[in-house]
Amino acid sequence: MIIIDGSEGEGGGQVVRNACALSLVTGQPFRIANVRGKREKPGLMRQHVTAIEAACAIGGAECEGVTVGSSEILFRPGSVRPGEHRFAVGTAGSTNLVLQTILPPLILADAPSRIVLEGGTHNMLAPPFDFIAKAFLPLVNRMGPRVEARLVRHGFYPRGGGRIEVEIMPAPLRPIECIDRGALLSVSASALFAGLPLEIAERELKTARKFLDWPEEAFAARELPADRGPGNALLLEAAFEHGTEIVTGFGKLGVSAESLAKTAAQRMAGFLASAAFAGPYLADQLLLPFALAGGGRFTTVKPSQHARTAADIIALFTGRRFVFRPIEDGTHMVECTT
Ligand code: ATP
Repeated sequence: MIIIDGSEGEGGGQVVRNACALSLVTGQPFRIANVRGKREKPGLMRQHVTAIEAACAIGGAECEGVTVGSSEILFRPGSVRPGEHRFAVGTAGSTNLVLQTILPPLILADAPSRIVLEGGTHNMLAPPFDFIAKAFLPLVNRMGPRVEARLVRHGFYPRGGGRIEVEIMPAPLRPIECIDRGALLSVSASALFAGLPLEIAERELKTARKFLDWPEEAFAARELPADRGPGNALLLEAAFEHGTEIVTGFGKLGVSAESLAKTAAQRMAGFLASAAFAGPYLADQLLLPFALAGGGRFTTVKPSQHARTAADIIALFTGRRFVFRPIEDGTHMVECTT
């Protein structure tokens, strides 16, 4: 039984999701005490409960303490059940965080799967669908499996109601190198809005233009049907020959369009000015597939506490370790060692 103190390192929900995924892949049970111990409101939130329940469903697992507010959970994996699964994440939860939990065991399963996830597709503090489809999955596919994700309907906090469908053709993961991102091929700034005035999207784009020296036609407002809203997200995308980065600003009551666009655009400008392959979010999400491949390396900006905590959890389950080391061009090399 692997024992984890959920208040160590980043001390958030990522520890729970990574532990479930790793437990299903390695067959080792775990217990987490002090779940989300570093958060203002510790314990499981609704979205973590859904992710664990999804892991139980696809992994034939048994668990204890999986209720909202719980600070201790026990998880005993069974055998992974590929096939058709549907999970409704609830109004506010992120479908992509549930996918993050169940994808690793399903890409290594012995048969294909088709997963339908309903809930939020563009939630704050979670990868938006576009990030999963364009930044994360192409790298997973380069490692061997074939995973295709389709956005059927957008869902924003608090209404939810979004839907994504994911087809998974499993295959063993092979190590890859993500060091040279290659030439910049295209850029786009897309301001999504639903049930809100167009003016919000226009203000975001106007602000983003001040920080990003991108061609005029790269900036576009995209209106979604009003019944999907209210919702708003500014998606900044830079596609390179070998990888894509997406930086997102999520619309939120009390945060001005200018302020969210400025933060997102400055982050994108910083990434473009660096030579890094992976941005900070992609970095923490790549550690798990790299560890399961048993090797590989990538460069990133500056490893976050999220990434270091993910590495600690991975070491507990697999014995595989990551070395984070600054290199001459100002980026960091992240290498999986066995
Ligand atoms: P909490 O921090 O409240 O416990 P949580 O369960 O949402 O909550 P985190 O531990 O913060 O968990 O993990 C969030 C995950 O979402 C991480 O994998 C992070 O890389 C990813 N993420 C967050 N924001 C973005 C974003 N804008 N783009 C891509 N990925 C993101």
